[in-house]
Amino acid sequence: MTIFQKIISRETPADIVYEDDEILAFRDIAPQAPTHIVIIPKTQIRSVAAAGPKDAVLLGRLMLVAAEIARDLGIDESGYRLVTNINRHGGQSVMHLHIHLLGGRQLSWPPG
Ligand code: AMP
Repeated sequence: MTIFQKIISRETPADIVYEDDEILAFRDIAPQAPTHIVIIPKTQIRSVAAAGPKDAVLLGRLMLVAAEIARDLGIDESGYRLVTNINRHGGQSVMHLHIHLLGGRQLSWPPG
């Protein structure tokens, strides 16, 4: 079981900013920007690489929820970045699909 499943089951506390039947979003415990939210599906999917056609609507909803949270937190005009890390080279540390919403400061590009 990953830490994110424990957050879904409320076994581990988190600063939750959004929840619906399929999706949960909470503040990252080690924020890399003034706004750093993690958006996850409640179903266990390891990463985008493990997703299939049946997950298409859910993947789309994760992006739309991220945009909604960015609007709610007031960073849509200034801008933000959505990132999903995959496996070792992608820097994925929690093996439960998630999107990082990062904003509140100028982000550099390209990533290191
Ligand atoms: P990744 O490295 O892309 O797998 O992202 C995992 C993210 O989850 C990291 O940014 C961690 O800081 C974050 N994280 C790990 N444990 C927790 C937790 N208990 N509550 C909130 N965020 C967490």
